[in-house]
Amino acid sequence: MLKIENLHAEIDGKKILNGLSLEVNAGEIHAIMGPNGAGKSTLAYVLGGRPGYEVTEGSVTFDGQDLLDLAPHERASAGMFLGFQYPVEIPGVSNVQFLREALNSQRKYRGEEPLSGGEFLKLAKEKAGLLKLDMEMLKRNVNVGFSGGEKKRAEMVQMGILDPQFAVLDETDSGLDIDALRTVGEGINSIMRTPEKSVLLITHYQRLLDYVKPDKVHVLAKGRIVTSGGPELALQLENEGYETVAA
Ligand code: ADP
Ligand code: MG
Ligand code: MG
Repeated sequence: MLKIENLHAEIDGKKILNGLSLEVNAGEIHAIMGPNGAGKSTLAYVLGGRPGYEVTEGSVTFDGQDLLDLAPHERASAGMFLGFQYPVEIPGVSNVQFLREALNSQRKYRGEEPLSGGEFLKLAKEKAGLLKLDMEMLKRNVNVGFSGGEKKRAEMVQMGILDPQFAVLDETDSGLDIDALRTVGEGINSIMRTPEKSVLLITHYQRLLDYVKPDKVHVLAKGRIVTSGGPELALQLENEGYETVAA
């Protein structure tokens, strides 16, 4: 599904990713852990096609296509979803408007009919229920005045509505209390745990992995994957720290 080979990327001439290789098959959830400043968010941004992130070497293939060749909206329409460490606020635009617009533009790109207002609301209600987010929240402006936990839940509702093939979730667990963590973890499982879908779960802490069991765990340090293993690697990192494990 996703194949990253020898990826090098820089921002403002500063080299951040340094020969990163990673392969994620359909039906797999991979966790990426690593110290602060390792390049985890940079990897997410490069996959999403954020401007300013320059790929200087290497390749990324997604579902048989050259991902780096696609514009950000084409990547999204092709089924790539990005969840951000710091979700943006959009004053003046409600979640419902924003999500319906996003979904219908992706459907249009794929040659599918747009959803009507009624059909969309039904879908939004279903996904909001899954994430225990009040529909009233979805009528408010995107993320404006949302708590950290509400932003992350709203983002998972967004993922549920867009129904991507592949999700890159950057520190979706940051700022969540124990109840929100469980809700978000169960949301990720119910939306993405299928034989056709894959997830790259970027996280500092192993606690989210208690809810979302990864098939593989990788340690990213200094811009490349330095160690890979099974779920036990996350527990080992929690106990021993990155210094020992990723040295
Ligand atoms: P992580 O998510 O693993 O904590 P990041 O990908 O956010 O790491 O950052 C990796 C490195 O890139 C850090 O050293 C950070 O300071 C640097 N960096 C991030 N954004 C920029 C930028 N816009 N300009 C210059 N350096 C940046
Ligand atoms: Mg960080
Ligand atoms: Mg980060």
